[in-house]
Amino acid sequence: MKSIAGGLSHVRQQIDKAAINCGRDSRSIQLLAVSKTQPEEHLRAAYELGQTAFGENYLQEARNKQQALADLDIEWHFIGPIQSNKTREIAASFDWVHSVDRLKIARRLSEQRPVDMPPLNICLQINVDQEESKSGILLEDLADLVEAIRPLPNIKLRGLMAIPAVSDEYQQQFTSFMQLSKAIKGYPEMDTLSMGMSGDMDAAIAAGSTIVRIGTAIFGQRERR
Ligand SMILES: *Cc1c(COP(=O)(O)O)cnc(C)c1O
Repeated sequence: MKSIAGGLSHVRQQIDKAAINCGRDSRSIQLLAVSKTQPEEHLRAAYELGQTAFGENYLQEARNKQQALADLDIEWHFIGPIQSNKTREIAASFDWVHSVDRLKIARRLSEQRPVDMPPLNICLQINVDQEESKSGILLEDLADLVEAIRPLPNIKLRGLMAIPAVSDEYQQQFTSFMQLSKAIKGYPEMDTLSMGMSGDMDAAIAAGSTIVRIGTAIFGQRERR
């Protein structure tokens, strides 16, 4: 097992460096530790090193960890594909959902958010490179979706999320992320750009990311699920 302490401190340094390189304050960039497939002890270890926000992709796996880690004050983010029969449980057990890509899901999350909880923070997932296999909406459909979501009372539309096509090229990564940075300017109520993973966080930060979602660079290679 890779050292989580080493991984975390390396990622924090990389965020600081990337921020300095583009003249940003690194405190404006939140590190979300993506803990899918990691056992609960790995999350606990990261938590003890000061990491409090965790992202999970699979609901049942996440629920098991939430139960096991109920003694910790974790901010839970759901970042995986959403089936509509899972929205009730997601609405009741997460602080953020990054992967909203249709009105039906947004409506259900709002309706099903328990009344004693604050509004659920959501991001709209954008299929920024227009890949057929990827979830997310096209940017050209964003305005209509935002308008339909605005009146929903129990969700708070925070921003945009993307998983660009895999590329090793900084310039291509940057170009994809910049599309989101430009798009968000039309919506002053949004303050979040959820973009950047282990392989492209430098470009994401240069393009204005406010949440980087990092798994491998913290925890090491995942076992295939
Ligand atoms: C797995 C995953 C990540 C983290 O990817 P790494 O390359 O391991 O950093 C980020 N975002 C989403 C949506 C993911 O599914």
